[in-house]
Amino acid sequence: MTEEKMRFEAEVSRLLDIVVHSLYSNKDIFLRELISNASDACDKLRYEAIAKPDLLAGDAEFKVRLLTDNVRNVLTIADNGIGMNKEDLVENLGTIANSGTAKFLDAVSKSENAKDVDLIGQFGVGFYSAFMVANKVEVVSKKAGEDQAWKWSSDGKGEYTIAETEMEGRGTQITLHLTDDNKEFTDENRLRHIVKTYSDHIGIPVVLMKGDGDETLNEASALWTRPKSEITEEQYKEFYKHTSHAFDDPWKTIHYQAEGAIEYTGLLYLPTMRPFDLYDPKRKGHLKLYVRKVFITEGADELLPPWLRFVSGVVDSQDLPLNVSREMLQDHPLLTKIKSGLTKKVLSELEKAAKKDTEGFETFWENFGAVVKEGLYEDQSHQDRILKIAKFRSTNGDGWTTLADYVERMKDGQKAIYYISGEDIDALKRSPQLEGFAAKGIEVLLLTDPVDEFWMPSVGQFEEKDFKSVTRGGADLNDIKSDDKDADKDDKKDDDAASDASVDALIAAIKLALGTGVKDVRESDRLTSSACCLIADEMGMDLRMERLMKQHNRVDEVSPRILEINPKHSLIKKLSDIAIKDAKAPILGDAAQLLLDQARILEGEALPDPVSFARRLDLVMEKGLGA
Ligand code: ADP
Ligand code: MG
Repeated sequence: MTEEKMRFEAEVSRLLDIVVHSLYSNKDIFLRELISNASDACDKLRYEAIAKPDLLAGDAEFKVRLLTDNVRNVLTIADNGIGMNKEDLVENLGTIANSGTAKFLDAVSKSENAKDVDLIGQFGVGFYSAFMVANKVEVVSKKAGEDQAWKWSSDGKGEYTIAETEMEGRGTQITLHLTDDNKEFTDENRLRHIVKTYSDHIGIPVVLMKGDGDETLNEASALWTRPKSEITEEQYKEFYKHTSHAFDDPWKTIHYQAEGAIEYTGLLYLPTMRPFDLYDPKRKGHLKLYVRKVFITEGADELLPPWLRFVSGVVDSQDLPLNVSREMLQDHPLLTKIKSGLTKKVLSELEKAAKKDTEGFETFWENFGAVVKEGLYEDQSHQDRILKIAKFRSTNGDGWTTLADYVERMKDGQKAIYYISGEDIDALKRSPQLEGFAAKGIEVLLLTDPVDEFWMPSVGQFEEKDFKSVTRGGADLNDIKSDDKDADKDDKKDDDAASDASVDALIAAIKLALGTGVKDVRESDRLTSSACCLIADEMGMDLRMERLMKQHNRVDEVSPRILEINPKHSLIKKLSDIAIKDAKAPILGDAAQLLLDQARILEGEALPDPVSFARRLDLVMEKGLGA
């Protein structure tokens, strides 16, 4: 009989190296991973057998068996699931299809924390955890419906072999040759304890084969079918780790029965931590669809809208036909109803938490708020409810605020909800456009999620108050009364002073110098200490939105901006004096260009011509030094 030698894909080798050498904190989990795979394999066959009952070949009682041999130090995990043929073995146990693995490798090699072994499950490389306890692993497998069995064998050091072999029945037997320091895993009590801890919720029996009769170690009924009162928090947690490939604890566990027009059981989890691949477009979620306990599909986008893609767990429908194909799911009317039911359930759970568990909700929002906000423009029907729970950073302290609380704090005469957006919250707080607002004590929301640029235009209002970007159009600050009456008076005085010494001549000179480089030049009422800033047209796109579009090649060029100058600033006053005396003074051209470039820098934008900027700056400095 010929034996083929093959090399692991480079990534697998790297992974195995990490598994064998550095990750030894909680070795028990190898059993959880292998039992989980066995259970998945049984789920897969149960589904295939709906269309092809012959595949079961008279053996319809799915089971995972554990066999120990404490003389040879061997532990075998066997299942009668779907099995693997030669191609499957090469594909599944020799390569890593999962794109997350590279990220796992990075995360683990950077981390000092040995506990990160728990990450293995999350990154879908569970099988290789066998090499934490074994120096040789043999997999004998026969695929359901095929005649030839195969044996895969490896010591985890770069190579594996595949050969034909004999096997009774179908399924997969994984034999672990335990290393000397892992003999404990042939101990029956040890196994009993591990299975109880990690695999109790598995829907099929995990049976320990003993001389004096077999013993089923787990509860062996699908967890979600059991009454809530009989499920412990630990069991809910373990089931979460199993279904969600997660290593955190769930923040919320929602287990309920929908009755009436449509009947289904939902066991939904909201995570505590943000999954590493939440923004990966190829990410498949971890919500599993069952029909009367038969597994149908995982990552069912049909079950939840994308803005709830972090929700994991199980949905078990009573009404869907068992032979529903994965393709049919797409627009099955029953599924549409289930989706709407699940969405409402999660939303009301979030509303409850927002009211009762502020701290927990804020942590949740920190992790998932940006995803939930996608719902504001993708899902008009839930817009209002999402807006009500949404949390924002603002210039009012370091905490979070709701829109309702913001509105509560609005000043007399303030008509709009003001916001500014950018990448970095600290940079935002220093934006010149905020100066006038800060002086009058007007609160401004600080938006840092790219998604904010998308929902803002489509939502437009909250409680009939318009959202208004402080980087767009006129600020109209004079109509708003601040708490500090003196500040208002100062404003008046300044206004009068400003109209005395008009900056009209300077504005005309700057316009002439900048030409089409700016859309307009205006006197500002939003600046107090900076000399100038950029503003977008009232009708135009928000500054940051436009930058974002440019990054994604949605627009070719950012359109010219409005340059606002601060008439109260001493530099502007001096330039203004010069302009009044001689509108053609050469310094005005350089100054205009420098002011524009300075405003660009304050915006965090790259200068179109840094060389000229530097040259002009040198020139002006030299003049300043009296050269
Ligand atoms: P994951 O379970 O996340 O896919 P694993 O490393 O645990 O990752 O397993 C890799 C793949 O190997 C599985 O997706 C499956 O296709 C296959 N596999 C592992 N164990 C079994 C088994 N007992 N029966 C059938 N296929 C299996
Ligand atoms: Mg697995």
